[in-house]
Amino acid sequence: MTTLAPFDPTPHEGQLVAAVEALRAHSGTVDGRALGQILRRHAKPDGVFSKSELIRGFRLLKARYGWSDEQEFVRRLRMKPVRTLSGVAPVTVLTKPFPCPGRCIFCPSDVRMPKSYLAREPGAQRAAQHAFDPYAQTLGRLLALHHTGHAVDKVELIILGGTWSFYPEAYKLWFVRRCFEAMNDFAGASAASDRGEPVALGDGPRPCVAAEVRVDGCSTTGGDYNRLVSRPARDSERPGRLEAQQRATWGELEAVHARNEGAAARCVGLVVETRPDHLDQAEVLRIRRLGATKVQIGYQSLDDAVLEANHRGHGVAATRCAMRLLREAGFKIHAHWMPNLLGSDPARDREDFARLWDDADFRPDELKIYPCSLIESAELMRFHQDGRWQPYATETLVELLADCLVSVPPYCRITRMIRDIPGDEIIVGNKVTNLRQVVEQTVAARGAVSRDIRAREVRGLSIEAADLHLEVVTYDTAIGEERFLQWLTPGGALCGFLRLSLPRISASLDEIAGSAMIREVHVYGRLARLGSTRTTGSLRAQHRGLGRRLIEAASEMAAAAGFTDLAVIAAVGTRDYYRGLDFRDGALYQHRALAMP
Ligand code: SF4
Repeated sequence: MTTLAPFDPTPHEGQLVAAVEALRAHSGTVDGRALGQILRRHAKPDGVFSKSELIRGFRLLKARYGWSDEQEFVRRLRMKPVRTLSGVAPVTVLTKPFPCPGRCIFCPSDVRMPKSYLAREPGAQRAAQHAFDPYAQTLGRLLALHHTGHAVDKVELIILGGTWSFYPEAYKLWFVRRCFEAMNDFAGASAASDRGEPVALGDGPRPCVAAEVRVDGCSTTGGDYNRLVSRPARDSERPGRLEAQQRATWGELEAVHARNEGAAARCVGLVVETRPDHLDQAEVLRIRRLGATKVQIGYQSLDDAVLEANHRGHGVAATRCAMRLLREAGFKIHAHWMPNLLGSDPARDREDFARLWDDADFRPDELKIYPCSLIESAELMRFHQDGRWQPYATETLVELLADCLVSVPPYCRITRMIRDIPGDEIIVGNKVTNLRQVVEQTVAARGAVSRDIRAREVRGLSIEAADLHLEVVTYDTAIGEERFLQWLTPGGALCGFLRLSLPRISASLDEIAGSAMIREVHVYGRLARLGSTRTTGSLRAQHRGLGRRLIEAASEMAAAAGFTDLAVIAAVGTRDYYRGLDFRDGALYQHRALAMP
């Protein structure tokens, strides 16, 4: 069993108390410099206290020392506020190493990891420490966020690794069930941890191949990934035995879903990642039934010749088909796109990127841009060695990405521009770790601006609701019309948005045939604890009813367009919120009856 050890403040209690008192007494904002000075002044013999130690120490000792200002203390120390700026705590978990149906030549192989991940990527390291156990990964991450002062009452659970749709159904049910059980157990676990007690992070089996450097005489990287990860690493992990442990039923999953509706850590979004050619109607419904609200999908390229050169195993037609299915079902769509693939060049990449927005079949809501880099274990290595593939020069890549960034429409969020791959793992390719910043500087130097969501997010500014105005961006998709409703400040900062789908063709799923669909409601604001209404004297966006007003506006628009039912692809943890807004529960969605205008 893995256990999170309790924090013991006694060896350095005097210094810890002094540091806490100094921070509480500090007037004004505790910036990095002031914090550093205080921590150095009250350091332990082996170094300064971490923020996590200070917060855990505060919680353990507050009764004894009469500290009653925990919220303010935590606010002063909060690490990386941008992480939970949207009010939602992202929790990323990885599935176990498992065969992938893809043969993509740019994809690294490390049998210690699910396909495409590397053991030294930060998120992957955390997953491996917990042997890919979903409960331990989820609860461990929630507690780590809690111990560094983040609110985790609203959780976006992001399940990554290989091709989700290729894993056995029983494993997927078990995996998601265990993630929900961890969220449901968070209240008790965090309270125990705050009392200085150890917390069990689950007793799940080791569900992965061993992390030895060599497996069966082969390197853990490269080789036949699918064959190697199919081998049990030890007797206790023989496939039959492991599979018997990693199983759950739909009924068990629905029970933990129901408990999560009232849990302290509610799942307000669930994401899985998969390949276009492994999505059909049945799989889309399965994903929805698991509670998913968003799908990460690898486009990689919208050029058939490039897909073929890279042994992608499917063409653009499969991507079109998958997109229609996901759109019909109301999912948010987070696509991946890769410039510099074998067979492409900067001009071809520019054309390809334009297709993302010009062609109504694509138009994703979010996009990760991953310039192709060469990892030793990828098959691309031999194409590089014989001169058939070269990475772009940094200036070429930056110019290309700057052109891309300025052409992104306002309804899309560019979530990433590089992968977190350690530089020494990259044989050739981009090693600029702040590539996005460099690209943004290039855009600014041109006197241009990017309009993507991320560039316009309000980012912690105090705002006056009365100053906001609602703007609507309308665009076509493969199934109908999409309206992107956005709250903007006079300066153009984005405070919240809603994605409304008005289909022209009836969905094949009976429950939503003929329904308009709310695909996403997102209001920015860091004041995130449910039920809280005020922070240091200034109200923040989430508590001004901006979400509710977006939903009312969407209802009016849908009714005006002739719809009599407005469905919402609610996450498990937001069902109650929608019930309070007159939505009734359906099988997979919630619905509001619309009166004709
Ligand atoms: S489908 Fe994804 S994980 Fe599988 S080989 Fe291709 S890129 Fe890698």
